[in-house]
Amino acid sequence: MNEYDAIVVGAGSVGVPTSYFLAKEGFKVLCVDRHSSSGQGQNKAAIGGVRATHSDPAKIKICQESLDIFSSWEDKTGFDIGWKKGGYCFPVYRDKERNILKSILPIQKKFSLNIDWVDEDKIKDRIPGINPRGLMGGTFSPDDGQVSPLLAIAGFTSEAKRLRTEFKYNETVKDVMIEGSRIKGLRTNSGEYHADVVVNAAGARATEICSMAGLDIPVIPDSHEAGITSPVKPFLDPLVVDLRPGAEDRTANFYFGQVRSGQVIFCYTPIKPMVGEDRRCTSEFMPIIAKRLTDLIPRFKNLLVRRLWRGLYPMTPDGVPVLGKSEKVDGFYMAVGMCGQGFMLGPGIGRNMAELIAHGKPLLDRDIFEKLSPERDFYRERKEMLK
Ligand SMILES: Cc1cc2nc3c(=O)[nH]c(=O)nc-3n(C[C@H](O)[C@H](O)[C@H](O)COP(=O)(O)OP(=O)(O)OC[C@H]3O[C@@H](n4cnc5c(N)ncnc54)[C@H](O)[C@@H]3O)c2cc1C
Repeated sequence: MNEYDAIVVGAGSVGVPTSYFLAKEGFKVLCVDRHSSSGQGQNKAAIGGVRATHSDPAKIKICQESLDIFSSWEDKTGFDIGWKKGGYCFPVYRDKERNILKSILPIQKKFSLNIDWVDEDKIKDRIPGINPRGLMGGTFSPDDGQVSPLLAIAGFTSEAKRLRTEFKYNETVKDVMIEGSRIKGLRTNSGEYHADVVVNAAGARATEICSMAGLDIPVIPDSHEAGITSPVKPFLDPLVVDLRPGAEDRTANFYFGQVRSGQVIFCYTPIKPMVGEDRRCTSEFMPIIAKRLTDLIPRFKNLLVRRLWRGLYPMTPDGVPVLGKSEKVDGFYMAVGMCGQGFMLGPGIGRNMAELIAHGKPLLDRDIFEKLSPERDFYRERKEMLK
């Protein structure tokens, strides 16, 4: 009864799509999570931004897969996941950000991404009410968008269950079983489950699961806060990212969008990372973000804030996710270290992991996929800087 083809640790942004795609390959899958349902880790903290317009080839390719999956999900399954194709818009007020954004356009074009530099008037059309003082233009990518993380995880879970994936909730993985150098399954607080394939998709706790298999993979959580307003009439199509640091020296970029049901959802990146698993809201978040939002779009002062939360980015030292197969433990796979983009990467990673496990190679080109390898030197860039 406890025999499976594959066991996925973590029913989150990555683990649930991975379970679904493995089940589509005909695998008998078990997905285990310590929480009481899918998506109760960091998936529910995400604000739901989904874009392929990155500068890193691996993230571009994976998110192109994800966009394809998210945007066609309702047509294929009948399950509405809140997909809104409003694009992403980066308004620019300074030479510094203009140069950065323009410098990555060639690589984005090389991967056929629909993104362009647009003038000030186009930005004003895209972001009604934006502060025009000093606005220089910006980039706009109409094919990106937003999805509800709560609906998406429910959609993936229900399709995975339809394909006979079993979900065991309220079970914490305590140990993995290895014979010789081969994975044989795992133990939770309430049972023992056997499989020749185990996928670590444990998010912020990924390092703990790796160390059970004798592997040292650094995934260090740091926390970010976000909030959501009451709904208002739809007026803002794109998800907006302002790359400038805040005046108070506490925030780097900040981003926000209006979800399909009308609420404005928002978040910023602290300049100094708040390392650890503390998820209590801070008193500084709302005053800082309120000022940044109303400086950029003055009429935001009329919005009513309904809820705030704080969640974790599972960070790697080089800011790149860890995907692939362990060379030391046969059958042990990793899909971890998603940093701030695990929700948008999740479905594309799920599809790639299922291909890798079922057919021995991912969909991504080998040279791109190898940059994500668990065997890489995570501190290479830092060492090069010290040379
Ligand atoms: C404020 C905020 C906004 C964000 N906005 C976005 C966004 O707009 N777009 C985007 O792409 N990303 C966004 N993110 C990032 C995104 O939420 C994460 O990158 C993503 O959820 C990580 O996915 P994951 O599957 O690795 O982890 P999770 O979704 O956390 O899943 C891991 C699961 O593993 C389980 N687990 C861990 N240890 C064990 C164990 N021992 N036994 C059993 N189960 C275990 C956990 O319970 C959890 O459910 C945001 C994050 C924050 C905090």
